[in-house]
Amino acid sequence: MHKRSKRFANLLAMMALAVSVTGCGSSAAVDSSSSDLTESSRSQLSSSSIQESSESSRPMDESVLTSEEVAAVIQDYLEDHAKEQASLETQIASLEAELASLEAEAAASSEAAASSEAASSSAEEASDLPSKEENIPTKSYTVSKKYGSAGDIKGKTLLMSIFADEADSSWNWEDQEDMALYSKMYYRLETACNWLEKQCRTYGAESEFVWDWMENADLYKRASFTEKLIRSDGGGYKTQKKWIQDNVDVEGTLKKYDADNIIFLFFFDSAPEDAPNPWSISIDCGEMCDLEICDFFVRYREFEVEPNTMAHEFLHCFGAPDLYYSNDKIPQKYVDHLKKTKSKDILYMVYDSEEIKETFSDLDAYYVGLTDSCADMEKWGLGKSSYVK
Ligand SMILES: [Zn+2]
Repeated sequence: MHKRSKRFANLLAMMALAVSVTGCGSSAAVDSSSSDLTESSRSQLSSSSIQESSESSRPMDESVLTSEEVAAVIQDYLEDHAKEQASLETQIASLEAELASLEAEAAASSEAAASSEAASSSAEEASDLPSKEENIPTKSYTVSKKYGSAGDIKGKTLLMSIFADEADSSWNWEDQEDMALYSKMYYRLETACNWLEKQCRTYGAESEFVWDWMENADLYKRASFTEKLIRSDGGGYKTQKKWIQDNVDVEGTLKKYDADNIIFLFFFDSAPEDAPNPWSISIDCGEMCDLEICDFFVRYREFEVEPNTMAHEFLHCFGAPDLYYSNDKIPQKYVDHLKKTKSKDILYMVYDSEEIKETFSDLDAYYVGLTDSCADMEKWGLGKSSYVK
């Protein structure tokens, strides 16, 4: 606290005490030890005549007095009380004057001192909170060269939702169908995030998804592109990445939310007949793909993007591979094994549903950084997780 404001506080405390004493003459036993007064202000208060006047009334209880004597005692008491009140009022007036002069002095100097004041104030505030720095793990708030904008699934992940217009499609919030899709995406995103958080908890990890663009307005964006971005080949990535770089302070946003990861979700108002499946680009696609994005062509064929599709795509951003075809981590024999055993793994197959009925397997947990090993990985000779040395 500043010296000046401490002085203000002392003055105010004295005024408050003076007022309370004035309002209740019989309760003279003010516990000055509990207040934050300086020595001089305590002695000022103890010199008040209140204790004397309450002592002077004590004999009234012990002896029988005539009505005249009682009247005289009352008169004396009232006179003493009036004097005492006048004296306190004088004290208050003088304290008020001093306060006003200090306020004027503060106002006059505040403009000139504004910048240095702010600096020293924040430094003092920081030193008042010694545990703050100790509690926050060191975060760099930069996009990792190794893992991109989303590393392992532990910690806090931001999902920024970008409703994008492109060469052949655009969102129109006056159109009921578009509004219905917007609303569905909102609630399905919530379902996907809740499900992922729950799965992580079963592996003892606290993962938090910050996705709610109603609560956090900066997690919702509108974008407009002239290029054709509803395409399955990832050819729009550079354009989308440039848009993010031009329109989003990625590191500032991570810092603002004290977050570990950020994933950019592009929602396109696709025509069902010619839209490809939703897909995502993660750091696995190469070092240039350091900003991780999911492209959701909201209507594709007879489907719509549902919560399980969203969760499936997010898992890719954290490092999980698809399990329904052979790739650099998954050999064909494992794909065949999943088919034979009718796997419900969310990275093997997703079903049409508002709920997520698919499973989150030990293998998925291993690939997104929740565990260091996995029985299937060893048994089937699967590729190693990016998070295991
Ligand atoms: Zn996939």
